[in-house]
Amino acid sequence: EYPQIASPIRTQAILNRYHLSAKKSLGQNFLTDLGVLDNIVKAAEITKEDNVIEIGPGIGGLTEQLAKAANKVIAFEIDANLLPVLDETLAPYDNIKIINQDILKANLPKIIGEEFDSSKPLKVVANLPYYITTPIVMDLIAGETVFNAIVVMMQKEVAERLNANPSTKPYGSLSVIVQELNHVEISFVVPKTAFIPQPKVDSAIVKLTPRADNPVKPFDQKAFISFVRGCFMHQRKTLWNNLQGVFGKTPEIKAAIKEVLAAVDIDAGVRPESLTVAQFVSMANAFHTLKN
Ligand code: SAM
Repeated sequence: EYPQIASPIRTQAILNRYHLSAKKSLGQNFLTDLGVLDNIVKAAEITKEDNVIEIGPGIGGLTEQLAKAANKVIAFEIDANLLPVLDETLAPYDNIKIINQDILKANLPKIIGEEFDSSKPLKVVANLPYYITTPIVMDLIAGETVFNAIVVMMQKEVAERLNANPSTKPYGSLSVIVQELNHVEISFVVPKTAFIPQPKVDSAIVKLTPRADNPVKPFDQKAFISFVRGCFMHQRKTLWNNLQGVFGKTPEIKAAIKEVLAAVDIDAGVRPESLTVAQFVSMANAFHTLKN
């Protein structure tokens, strides 16, 4: 019986035996705190019914804990050097499949359809590579698959942006886009000392669950996302300035912008960061109606 993969002693032994040095460029920081791993699995409320997608299994520390708790785990790892390591460390488990692909290029709906029974809950659980946290989160929330939960570790500072309220410093387009579709919860904060090698910043576990209580939904999700990004393009400028950046500055367009803002009862002089998610949705929908 080996100690668990993520125990500091076993992790160090694996790194030594395979002559691995963690690749900074791929965001490789391995979790070596079994208490933290246990709390991640608990935050995701994983049961033997659940199917799980993991991003970046590394040497398999989190994957092992997921395999014990879940029905089946599919893990995407970009680094081919880790494949023989994972083959060995995860050999005792028959409910794991490793796919050697860049998660940003993978055809998730196709793989999910082939690998998982669609009647079971589907969750994403991962200690994300930090250099691509935002694109991964955007793909997961805006893709065609709706997950029962997305429980992911990221830089604490990014977690605070996802979870921010209007008129606070971290509030921006990412907060609005993520919160429009999801309930966001920071499950807990993880100190840098929980990793080998230690990252420069503290981390946090964020839990996203799909919102069922949306009062108004965007008519067009893609258009909503680019509208919100456009509204925040120049953070220190007013909504009025940003909307001209999005739609244009001709007299007709300016008149149309004024008309929409009056209809949704929003003052053109406010700054984008003072608006709520619901206000962004009503604005986007009013512009959409005007154009069509
Ligand atoms: N799950 C392990 C743990 O918790 O100890 C390792 C997490 S480490 C922060 C991030 C992992 O993501 C690394 O194994 C890295 O090679 C992998 N990775 C980086 N970019 C990736 C990508 N585009 N697609 C899939 N995996 C990626």
